[in-house]
Amino acid sequence: MRPDLTELPSAKSLADQILYHLTHTQGRGPEFATVFDWRLAVSYTIRDLIVTPWMAGHRASRDQKLKRVYYLSMEFLIGRILEDAIINLELEPQMEEALSTLGLDEHEILDDEPDAALGNGGLGRLAACFMESLSSLGVPAFGYGIRYEHGLFRQRFEGGQQVEAPEDWLNQPHPWEFVRIDYSYTIGFKGHVETVDGQSTWLPGESVIARAYDTPVIGWQGNWANTLRLWGAQPTNLFDLHRFNAGDYAAAAEPEALARTLSRVLYPDDTTDQGKELRLKQEYFLTSAALQDIIRRFVAEHGENLAHLPDKVAIQLNDTHPAIAGPELIRLLMDEHGLSFPEALDLSRRTLNYTNHTLLPEALERWSTWLMGQVLPRHLQIIQMIDDDHRASTHRPAHVAIVQHDEVRMGELAFIMAGKVNGVSALHTDLVRSTVFADLHKLHPDRIVNETNGVTPRRWLRLANPPLARLLDQTIGTGWTGDLDQLDGLKAHAADAAFLEALRDAKRQNKESLSNGLLADLGVKADPDALFDVQVKRMHEYKRQLLNILETIALWHRIHASPNGDWVPRLKIFGGKAAPGYWIAKTVIHLINDVARTINDDPVTSKYLKIAYPPNYNVSMAEKLIPAADLSEQISTAGKEASGTGNMKFTMNGALTIGTLDGANVEIRDLVGPENFFLFGLTAEEAAQEKARPGHARLAIEKSEDMQVALQLIAEGRFGRPEHYYALLDRTWNDDPFLVASDFDDYFACQRRVDAAYKDSRDWDRMSTLNIASSGFFSSDRTIRGYMKDIWKVG
Ligand SMILES: *Cc1c(COP(=O)(O)O)cnc(C)c1O
Repeated sequence: MRPDLTELPSAKSLADQILYHLTHTQGRGPEFATVFDWRLAVSYTIRDLIVTPWMAGHRASRDQKLKRVYYLSMEFLIGRILEDAIINLELEPQMEEALSTLGLDEHEILDDEPDAALGNGGLGRLAACFMESLSSLGVPAFGYGIRYEHGLFRQRFEGGQQVEAPEDWLNQPHPWEFVRIDYSYTIGFKGHVETVDGQSTWLPGESVIARAYDTPVIGWQGNWANTLRLWGAQPTNLFDLHRFNAGDYAAAAEPEALARTLSRVLYPDDTTDQGKELRLKQEYFLTSAALQDIIRRFVAEHGENLAHLPDKVAIQLNDTHPAIAGPELIRLLMDEHGLSFPEALDLSRRTLNYTNHTLLPEALERWSTWLMGQVLPRHLQIIQMIDDDHRASTHRPAHVAIVQHDEVRMGELAFIMAGKVNGVSALHTDLVRSTVFADLHKLHPDRIVNETNGVTPRRWLRLANPPLARLLDQTIGTGWTGDLDQLDGLKAHAADAAFLEALRDAKRQNKESLSNGLLADLGVKADPDALFDVQVKRMHEYKRQLLNILETIALWHRIHASPNGDWVPRLKIFGGKAAPGYWIAKTVIHLINDVARTINDDPVTSKYLKIAYPPNYNVSMAEKLIPAADLSEQISTAGKEASGTGNMKFTMNGALTIGTLDGANVEIRDLVGPENFFLFGLTAEEAAQEKARPGHARLAIEKSEDMQVALQLIAEGRFGRPEHYYALLDRTWNDDPFLVASDFDDYFACQRRVDAAYKDSRDWDRMSTLNIASSGFFSSDRTIRGYMKDIWKVG
């Protein structure tokens, strides 16, 4: 039975299709079906509707010989797929009706889907938003990534401390993907290079097969779908029959186990470099498979003349993780397709582009030349050739070399091999020009461009916030979903009492859902009238969750001192994971949980102050927390957060921001207006100066009574065993690299301004309206249009 593809299916036909798939694909009758069976039947029903535009788009791109965009990323933090697909196909009402005629609970079915957590945080989520926007804009594109069997670890708390458990989303059938056994590529490692008559050939000592698994990504209104192609590793020989016949079963399976390791786990590191051989192999595995696939498709569509590659192919490298693409593309063009080095270099540079995501020195990837020479001997030679060419053609100073102190510097490699290099917010791009790549910028003044990040309004507004989406539809029409600038129309309603009332009501519904769901499950009794103050993001020192929890302690102490004061009730919500080996971040998690236990049980203060830290923050949890937030905490040390995208999601959902002048906060504040944004803290420039001042932390703490009290209470053991926190306290007094102390008093005072503002609920709602109304710029559709025009030259 085939779905009718010419028009949107009715509820009746959806219900028929669901029953069809339940029976014929799942092999279950309705009387025996589990929630899982039903979810798969619903997913296959929706997938059928995506396949038609998907194939049509492929045909059109091929027949019209369109230029394609290729987005290479080690991470795609997708989250759940089903509801997003239903929304983009505009099938919500029909699906709701279909499920209710089948006697099914829609929420139960949607909640059954595991998150595809193939990323750590912002960088991976950006890649997922970009894939959705590329499809919504009808740009022919592929995303290339790795099909990790285990995504980002699951976080639990034991005694308040983070415990990591493996994530196992592929432990059950994944209904969205299509395996392509005909698109398989051999990926080599190690071995040696033979050169005969100037022609070099790499003879790898090991190899694995990269196999393609395709997931269609449907765009808004269902007109176009692109492919997310994830590579799974397969052994070149399934198993060793000789060993098997000799009875050594474990050894016989070894080649398979070794190969599969490559796509086994996502590295749980966030922004710090993991100098591990396996990680380098994973990066090369993704990159080589993607480039081989791109060249195969180019030749199939445009013939053997690779000189036209840059006219038909634009490749974007999401951070330096796939930066081995430079030497790999040169190797393929030179060693496998017979081009000269200068030709290969020129074509590669006109095809590749690189997005920088961080200025933190510890996060800039470097590989020892020893390891690079072991794992990728031919690439090390080519890197040397690229470096020599760059020196000869630019007379660059020695400290700009790619290879330095026996290390290959992937940032320099990516920059030198890119047509365009972009930063991800206005401030970040300025800092890229003036700090990390200052010398390269002088040599190549037109190469660095800015593309401020964005998020997709389909998932982060329409899907995540139905009460607000309904209100927007009623107030300004439905066009905002595909054209977020239309939110500007809300400005006319910022003084309209009925609208402000309705906005308050929408926020209240989200706060109640959160209180009765997630927070109740956690055992936190939340008052939906309290100010919901939310900081959710990876746990990192520069993001300064420590500043937030110290302010909480100081506030708690003040409430104790005058329990009959006019305090504004607050619920502080934290969420986020720490990299497993990052002790400071883990200590801060422990501290937050210890403080929560003490404060939440305090009968004197608990009507004013509570803390909730739900474990395992992920995309699905973000979809629940962000729409319920009144206040968005974006408090990183200025100059450290490249852009942030969480900050944009909150603004779109009507939360006001308390934040520093960092990353895209700067642009948010400019757009919503300084009077509708709670600003505090040092600027990036001031922060750099303050850090250079000897004893800055101690000097600042000695001036701040509130901060002294907070640190003292921890040291006294008021929240748990103080010895857990001695190292953290010592670091705060004596080092404080991210200037928690220097910004403390300003932050504390700013929070009191937030309290005062929240008491005037009408004015708060007006400010919230202006935040939503000004957030159109932060649609990832706008970001993608920027890349198309400035970098990819498509469309
Ligand atoms: C948006 C998002 C992030 C990025 O948040 P920042 O505050 O920008 O660091 C991280 N994780 C998840 C699950 C997200 O949805």
